[in-house]
Amino acid sequence: MRKNPRKIKRIVRYKEENPTLTLEQIGRRFKASKQYIHKVLKNQNIPTAIRVRKKKVGYCLECRTPIQTRVLSKKPICSEKCHFKYYNIKVNCAFCRILFYRKRNEIIQRYKDKRYKKYMYCTRQCYDKAQRAGQTRTSKF
Ligand SMILES: [Zn+2]
Ligand SMILES: [Zn+2]
Repeated sequence: MRKNPRKIKRIVRYKEENPTLTLEQIGRRFKASKQYIHKVLKNQNIPTAIRVRKKKVGYCLECRTPIQTRVLSKKPICSEKCHFKYYNIKVNCAFCRILFYRKRNEIIQRYKDKRYKKYMYCTRQCYDKAQRAGQTRTSKF
């Protein structure tokens, strides 16, 4: 291998400016083999391996905003606001029709349980009134 200091310098600079290029890509640029580029960089103590830490992207469960993260959580949530919105669901009281929040888990639990009707009540009072009105017998508060 003929030594060509100017070429070596250019290769080194090129690699530094384009750290994500592979040896092959650099070789193509300088009409040299992958092995040659490797040798040049190694001689100059330039790391030849490409170390790019890829970030994973998750999507907020509530608003679908992409979240860049190193460790992808199973339930990505972008903000406190979305956290609240996701874990608390607005439901209508089956009796007075008022809107209130219920915990997501509770709702899921309730839907899984076939014994209960899907009625939900904002307060114990509404539940009692509904019972008296005969709206529900099998639902629980
Ligand atoms: Zn969000
Ligand atoms: Zn109510």
